[in-house]
Amino acid sequence: PRDAGLNLLRQHALIAGEPIAANGGGIAVDDPATGAVIGHVPDLGEAETRRAIQAATEAFPAWSRSDPHARAAFLRKWAALIDENAEGLGALMALENGKPFEEAKGEVAYANGFIKWFAGEAERLIGETQDSPLGHLILTYREAVGPCALITPWNFPAAMLTRKLGPAFAAGCTAVVKPASQTPFTAIALAELAYQAGLPVGALSVVTGDAATIGKALTDSPDIRKLSFTGSTGVGRMLAEQCAPTLKRVSMELGGAAPLIVFADADLDLAVAETIKGKFRNSGQTCVCPNRVYVERPVAEAYAEKLAAEVAKIPVGNAFDDGVKVGPLIEEKALDKVEKHVAAVKADGGRVLTGGERHALGGRFFQPTVTLGGDDRLFREEETFGPMIPVFAFDAEDEVLDKANASEFGLASYLFTRDLDRAMRIGRRIEAGMCGVNTGLISTPVAPFGGVKQSGYGREGSIHGIDEYVDVKAVTLALR
Ligand code: ADP
Repeated sequence: PRDAGLNLLRQHALIAGEPIAANGGGIAVDDPATGAVIGHVPDLGEAETRRAIQAATEAFPAWSRSDPHARAAFLRKWAALIDENAEGLGALMALENGKPFEEAKGEVAYANGFIKWFAGEAERLIGETQDSPLGHLILTYREAVGPCALITPWNFPAAMLTRKLGPAFAAGCTAVVKPASQTPFTAIALAELAYQAGLPVGALSVVTGDAATIGKALTDSPDIRKLSFTGSTGVGRMLAEQCAPTLKRVSMELGGAAPLIVFADADLDLAVAETIKGKFRNSGQTCVCPNRVYVERPVAEAYAEKLAAEVAKIPVGNAFDDGVKVGPLIEEKALDKVEKHVAAVKADGGRVLTGGERHALGGRFFQPTVTLGGDDRLFREEETFGPMIPVFAFDAEDEVLDKANASEFGLASYLFTRDLDRAMRIGRRIEAGMCGVNTGLISTPVAPFGGVKQSGYGREGSIHGIDEYVDVKAVTLALR
């Protein structure tokens, strides 16, 4: 599979459909498992970003006025090419991100689900007719907002992109993409497939280079009408500020610090299995990973011990090793943060039940870790973004709900109980954009994904996702 990935690796950016090669220079991209450089992308700046914006602007009128069924057909063709290349795309992603190959293939399918879903949404860009009290007839149209800037992170190099490009193209928007410098190759491969599927030239560019420079050029441009960003809250806040002078539409999918609550009446085996699924996806590096687990005191010890016993068995290794479930972290500083979080638990009187250290494999590998006790405060404020589950005991529903909500973030949340009343109560009172009840997996193209509070605004996927890329126009007909 590794070779299938390397076959799709292109060491160039794409400006207005034209490749700009790195020629051995530019930004090095490495395999997080080994630190070995797998290739380079060019280090582009303001001038190239401007060219990409110009191309997106020039392509916009025709694309936005094209038949939505034609755009749906394009999206389906693109999706078919992605399916054909699923193995290669998964391998490429595993190489640049480090996630296990099987998981990476799963991400390709998940990512492609957004394109397929939004192909359908293109066919459902339905407006309304309404009588006005003035005696007029009002027609509404849902029109493309304009050329978009899409800035994506490294943790889901395919899905974070298709989740934005799917609805953007469905609505008739054109786009300039700035992928994360750690994982640009998946974005470039996807863009090449989009052009193979018949995307008009200029409708998509992928610009690689210094994030701040490209970000500034994108946000300063009055031609860019919309920014969709997935990444850290700090950068999101700054980008929102940069978008204010040109009043762009903005979607922000930012950090989380997801609480996972287990009540004493829950199926503990299920809770353990689902906690593991939720937490160790992408080696703990997702914004919806449970960041703090609260367990009702009578079962806290039992849950934590079961969890630790299972977590201790999780195979860690290189993306292409057989059966691997947890890979390396994306970069060295990510390990420092997990170490800091483990140290904080210990300093506050908590215990490490399994893991707690860098992995014997060395490099960027960290042991899957479970701790019990200590103070949950740090875990309300900071995402660990690594393979560590801190478990804390609680005594009462109100207490745990207060703790769950005592965070500036509000993205995902999880709850395990057999009590339907309680699930309904907490599902309504929890301050989060998403709540999983008796499941650790909440992400699918058909569900609205997004946060509240400092986790951002806007929704991706679902019937709401396309709203981020359309403006509603009202045409009033005076019927005489
Ligand atoms: P992460 O911790 O996931 O790397 P970031 O918010 O730093 O989160 O990165 C998410 C995306 O935002 C990446 O594509 C990154 O290159 C980009 N980015 C980082 N800093 C800036 C910036 N100042 N302006 C625009 N984009 C940025």
